Amino acid sequence: MQIILVKEGLLRNFLTFILRGKSYQEISSNMENCNIALYYLNLPPKSEGKGLLYEIHKEDCPWLEQVEHSELIGDFLNCREAINKAQLDHPDWKIEGCFYCSKDCHNL
Ligand SMILES: [Zn+2]
Repeated sequence: MQIILVKEGLLRNFLTFILRGKSYQEISSNMENCNIALYYLNLPPKSEGKGLLYEIHKEDCPWLEQVEHSELIGDFLNCREAINKAQLDHPDWKIEGCFYCSKDCHNL
């Protein structure tokens, strides 16, 4: 089962790169890292300090299962790309990465 999941992930990565018009070289170098993942926006937001904080999660984050409702942002290579897209859709929201799955984008 694990092997099938890995293969499905690779296939999706491959198709995503093709759709975005990436060159073969870009595809093969990125495929090795296999970093593309679906990212979701956590809804409703947490309240933190003065305002509301929205977090993004990768598709395989265990916390995503605890989330009441989530909005799909899309396929991205890293959390920064995902946050950039989410921020375009919701310019007034404070958005950062989950501590567990998107640590690079936590506490931006
Ligand atoms: Zn997470």
